[in-house]
Order: sequence, then C-alpha cells, then structure tokens
Amino acid sequence: MMPVPLLERIVADEIQPESADVVVIGAGIAGVSAALNLAEAGLKVVVCEKGLVGAEQSSRNWGWVRQMGRDEAELPLTMQSLRLWRQLDARYGIFTGFCETGITYVARTRVEERELTNWSKIGQAADLDSRVVSASELDRLLPGIAPRFRMGLYTAGDGRAEPGKAAPAIARAAQKFGATFLENCAVRGIETTAGKLSAIVTEHGAIKTSAAIVSAGAWSRLFLGNLGLNFPQLKVLGTAARVENVIDVPTMPVGGGDFAFRETTEGGYYVALRNYNIAPLTPDHFRLFFDYLPALAKTWRELNLRFTKMFFSELKVPRSWSFSEESPFEKVRILDPDPHMPYNLRALETLRVAFPKFASARITHNWAGIIDTTPDAVPAIGPIEQIPGLHIASGFSGHGFGIGPGAGELISQIVRGVKPTVDPTPFRFDRFGKTQSPKLQMSA
Ligand SMILES: Cc1cc2nc3c(=O)[nH]c(=O)nc-3n(C[C@H](O)[C@H](O)[C@H](O)COP(=O)(O)OP(=O)(O)OC[C@H]3O[C@@H](n4cnc5c(N)ncnc54)[C@H](O)[C@@H]3O)c2cc1C
Repeated sequence: MMPVPLLERIVADEIQPESADVVVIGAGIAGVSAALNLAEAGLKVVVCEKGLVGAEQSSRNWGWVRQMGRDEAELPLTMQSLRLWRQLDARYGIFTGFCETGITYVARTRVEERELTNWSKIGQAADLDSRVVSASELDRLLPGIAPRFRMGLYTAGDGRAEPGKAAPAIARAAQKFGATFLENCAVRGIETTAGKLSAIVTEHGAIKTSAAIVSAGAWSRLFLGNLGLNFPQLKVLGTAARVENVIDVPTMPVGGGDFAFRETTEGGYYVALRNYNIAPLTPDHFRLFFDYLPALAKTWRELNLRFTKMFFSELKVPRSWSFSEESPFEKVRILDPDPHMPYNLRALETLRVAFPKFASARITHNWAGIIDTTPDAVPAIGPIEQIPGLHIASGFSGHGFGIGPGAGELISQIVRGVKPTVDPTPFRFDRFGKTQSPKLQMSA
C-alpha cells in the first residue's frame, strides 16, 4: 500500500542567488502563494524549502476549500481566498484541481444541529451563501445518505482542490514570473545589520535581503525560537485515507460529526474521522500550557492527548544552534508521521453507516500530517516588529489549504507596502505578546 498520495514535483533551481528582494522560508501553500504574488508584482523572490515543494501539510490535507464554519476573524480572508482559487487555473494556465462543488455538513445530534444553526447566522451576517437544509432536502442534495440526519448546512460556493497538485502548480506559476525555488535548502537563520534583517542563512550560505517571510508550517516556532522569539504553536496529528471502489456517492465534500469525505479528481475518495485528532504530548505542551489552557478547555473532547515516542524525539531537538552547524531542519527533510490506522478504519466504518454505498470501498492509501495550531486557532500573518524586515505567514491551525492563496496575497501586500485587500489586524504576530526581545546574529 502506498504511504502518501502522489505529490507532483517542480523543476527546482540549482544555484542559490547571492541576493533577493524577498526570501520565502518554506514552500507549502502559504509560501508558494506569497511567492507568486511577489514575483507577479516584479520582485526578485527566492523560495527556500528544506525538503520538496508542498511535501508536508500542504499535500497531506483533505483538499477542502471551505468558508463554512470558519472563525469570524478569519472569514473575510477565507472569502477572498476562495475568490483567488476560482481564478488560479485559468489566470496562470495551471491545474490545482479546484472545483466549486459546494460543501455540506450534516447533523445527527441536537448539539450538532445547534452548532450548524448558530454558524449559519455568522455566514448570513458575512453575506455567505450558506443555508440550512432540512432532512428531506438532504435526500435530494446528497443522494444515498442514510435517513439518520436531522438537518444540514450547505454552502454552494465552497469547493475542493488537489493537495498533491496545488502547491507545485502555484510554484510553477511563480517560476514563470522569475521566482527561484531551491529544494533541499534549509534556512538556518537570519542576519541583521543595525537591528534590521540583512540576510538569511541557508545550509549553502547567505542570501542578502531586506525582507523575508517565515512560512515554515509546523517548524515556524522552532525557527523563531532560535531568534529568541516566542511563537506559540503546538502540533496535532491528522490522519487520513484514500478509498476506491465507490459508486453513486455525492461528488461534493460532506462532513458529519465523525466522518468526512471528498471525491478526488482522479476518482476515489479521501476519507477521515472528522473532529478526532491525536495530540502527541511534547515538551512544548508544558512550556505553552497557560497559552493553550482556554483552547484545551474548549476542545478537550476532540483532542486525544497521548504520550508517544514523539515526546522523546522532540526533547532531543536542539532549541538553539549556530548557523555554521547542521540545523534541525536538515535532519528532517520531510515530516512524514505514521498514520493512525484505527482512526482510518473507524472513519470508513462510520461512513458506511452514513452512506451505505461506501460498503464496497477499500483503502488504497493511508497517511498522516502534522498540523500546526496557535492558541486561538487563527494564523499569524504580518510583520514581526522586533526584527524589521522579518514577516510571518504561519500557524494555519488545520485550515491553511483553503486560505493559503489569500494568506499569500495578504503577506505579499504587507511586504510590498500596498493596501491589503483584507484587514490584517486579526492576524497580528504581536497578539501573542509584545515583550519578546530577539537574539540577533550580526552580519560580518
Ligand atoms: C490530515 C490533514 C487534513 C487537513 N485538511 C485540510 C482541509 O481540508 N482544508 C484546509 O484548508 N486545510 C487542511 N489541513 C491544514 C492544511 O494542510 C495546512 O494548514 C496548510 O497546508 C499549511 O500550509 P503551510 O504552507 O503553512 O505549511 P506546510 O505545508 O507544512 O509547509 C511548510 C514548509 O516549510 C518547510 N520548512 C520548514 N522549516 C524550514 C526551514 N527552516 N527552511 C526551509 N524550509 C522549511 C517545510 O519543509 C514545509 O514544506 C489539513 C492538514 C492535515 C495534516
């Protein structure tokens, strides 16, 4: 059985430039989208990726591009991102697999019904096309659904894209505008001159620049920690499977209290146990206990805190290093955790009850990804005031695939100093505390 769905590759550049207008650190969906916007605006962009473009979270997710159910603070950005998804393929001549299929959530219990009904009011206030669907209407909207659901919430404008294709496709579009993409090129740290960013240092040497974006996914906390900055970010294991041999099942993504599925562009479906994630305990859980206490209280039932070998492997990761030595980023080129098979099998079981046409489905792939979360489950997108020139677009808390293009556009607008399309205030880095003082390494 294959471990991970197919990730498309780009033809990466071989030579590391000596200088750039902007360096992007990490080529997930956020980094490549930022690079596309910056390069299209005429800036000289270099993207450094420690492994392969898109190989971590951005190719391991379910591929839902969803506005429905988002935090109110994130909704305008999510809506703008969807506008961008709709244009990407035609505008740049690429294939991300985006398709405006609509998405439906279904409720079986009264609690689930209340949650969906409450959220429909948030959607209405934001002028979103979400609407409550009665049990009898669900039958028509989702043929084959078992008669066990009380109601649903349907958003026609939501959609899906292909995680294995999207980030590489956007990277290829950025390359057409002259962006340089370096793979197997970990960034070890930054250099400053008179307190301002003056270079980033990769495993192959320095690139002079006055602007950089940390879009390092689950590694952003470690990267910024070495600079003396505290970015509160914890890791959660998300696990999923692909199944085949399914006929007459809805082509739009559907989520219930304990299942989720999405059709892929090549046939077959991604399936997962919705609202169940494993949180492997790490030393950061103790360091950040008070930052996450309110979030833990809210999501206690969904989170499955576990003591695993990850606690000891994370304990061994150095939290500071000099730029002349191998950094932790080079030691793990691609974060590829083991899938949690009991969850994947249970996902298929619960799905068969909800949609009996999954009875003949068989699993072809199992995989997992490490999801990075912030205490308020909202990303950080903007400048890091303590080090002028340094920026962040990270902490997407399990919804970064959908908002990736919007986040890339927003951080590019901030770096370029143009008026942002979306208000960046909810995403400020300094909401996590203003008192951090960076440890700087000066340029020679
Ligand atoms: C199982 C699962 C299901 C999900 N489902 C959905 C979904 O349906 N919809 C949705 O919107 N979101 C979903 N998500 C979340 C989504 O995938 C992430 O929020 C999003 O991909 C994050 O993108 P990113 O660019 O921030 O990070 P990543 O994709 O993780 O990219 C970060 C990159 O930075 C690189 N990097 C790190 N440190 C360095 C360094 N020092 N130097 C150079 N490179 C570095 C890494 O190698 C990596 O490639 C899901 C996630 C998982 C795991």
